[in-house]
Amino acid sequence: PRYDLAALRTRLDGIRLEDNPALVRQKSRDFYWYSPILKRQLDAVAADLVAYPASQDDVVRVLEACAELAIPVTPRGAGTGNYGQAMPLAGGVVLDLSGMDRVLDIAPGRVVAQAGALLADIDAATRATGQELRLSPSTYRTASIGGFIAGGSGGVGSIMWGGLRDLGNILGLTVVTMERQPRVLRLTGEEVGKVAHAYGTNGIITEVTMPLAPAYGWLEAIIGFDDFGRACSYANALGEQDALAKKLVSVVAAPVPQLYFLRHRPFLPDGKHVVLAMVDVLAADAFAAFTTRHGGEFLFRSDLVPAERRAGLPPIYELAWNHTTLRALRVDPAITYLQTLYPFPHQLDLVARLHARLGAEVPAHLEFVRFDGKVTCFGLPLVQFTTEERLEEIIAIHEEMGAVVFNPHRYTLEEGGMKQTDAVQLAFKREADPAGLLNPGKMIGWENPDFDLASGRLYLFQGLA
Ligand code: FAD
Repeated sequence: PRYDLAALRTRLDGIRLEDNPALVRQKSRDFYWYSPILKRQLDAVAADLVAYPASQDDVVRVLEACAELAIPVTPRGAGTGNYGQAMPLAGGVVLDLSGMDRVLDIAPGRVVAQAGALLADIDAATRATGQELRLSPSTYRTASIGGFIAGGSGGVGSIMWGGLRDLGNILGLTVVTMERQPRVLRLTGEEVGKVAHAYGTNGIITEVTMPLAPAYGWLEAIIGFDDFGRACSYANALGEQDALAKKLVSVVAAPVPQLYFLRHRPFLPDGKHVVLAMVDVLAADAFAAFTTRHGGEFLFRSDLVPAERRAGLPPIYELAWNHTTLRALRVDPAITYLQTLYPFPHQLDLVARLHARLGAEVPAHLEFVRFDGKVTCFGLPLVQFTTEERLEEIIAIHEEMGAVVFNPHRYTLEEGGMKQTDAVQLAFKREADPAGLLNPGKMIGWENPDFDLASGRLYLFQGLA
């Protein structure tokens, strides 16, 4: 064995551990298989042991013991991440935080919860006080808040509130360091950026303080258009309607909805490009008036469709964000996807040009967001996968034409993000994980500072067995 697991067991007496190979393997994977490239690279990855802390003190004990025994630790919330983020590339321990799931305190405007709490459970507790989380991934029903902060970026709510990286969307984090004597740190303001979206490479989040918004009843709507460009301009304009409270504005080009939104199929006539929306139900008439002005046709409205026809339908946000991809993959396993940003203010023009050039091979899926007061859109276009070379070409075409690509076929922070190491996160890793034991292989700037990110060459982690 690579590590002294016997010594670890002795040190962790009283903490639940799992070493059944099938169960350990299951807890060593996430949704990496969305990518044919990651599937090939990471299929064999497995930890040696899963540890289930029940408290922050347990987390401290695991990190202390693993620091002393030089055993890598990879944190895991619910394992719904997409890029092998929670996969233990160098084996060792998976630290499963799902048992730390308590909502600790709710006050006007904020909630405090343990990191393993599920978004939907936090929301259920805050809704009882007339408040809700501002942001959640479309995996709201299955994902943890700690995993969302460490691995996610935004999602449902981003059309009102921007992304997780925007100051104010995470109020405070409690983090345990990976040292011989672990420290418990409280991060707020600028410091939140040290560990937010760092894939758990430089600290274990044990507790979070998140801001809350007023809870609305959300009307779910699907609006149809014959013309793709008109669907896009309607969605952009809806995003800009500051007086209509909304949580979701997505565009999905035909024939994607008709082929893959199987349970909504009766509401989706052939040929229609659709906008998916969640809007304040009390503003239903205002929303309908806005839609009529823009020539949109309601194909589905949750407030008008009788309950018996709605039975069995998934919530509409489970057609959006990365659930669009999941639904396509369930029907056609040869589908994969990209993650793009169409920069403001030319987003609609860029989307139109890309759709004209690649639309059949890369059908459009847009998610509208509001960043720094400006409405623009991300893309999670589906890709008819043929070869890895062609996928790289499609990415290059997007970049040449002016789109930003967050490559979902890479397991490192840098290659999946801004193509550079986050200097603040790297500096914090030196402090909080001096031996480099937290989620090894995910931060190139730590593993191989000389790696030339600009070369576009694929990074391969040496420790990957
Ligand atoms: P995990 O997958 O368990 O972990 C994610 C990362 O965080 C890993 O690197 C892990 O090591 C680290 N981590 C987990 N817990 C901690 C902790 N306590 N401390 C430190 N590090 C930790 N993401 C979005 O942002 N928006 C979306 O709309 C969205 N939609 C999705 C739809 C589908 C169908 C799927 C499969 C994924 C989607 N995702 C989305 C990605 C993912 O579901 C979310 O980011 C989710 O919030 C991750 O939470 P998790 O608990 O599953 O995290």
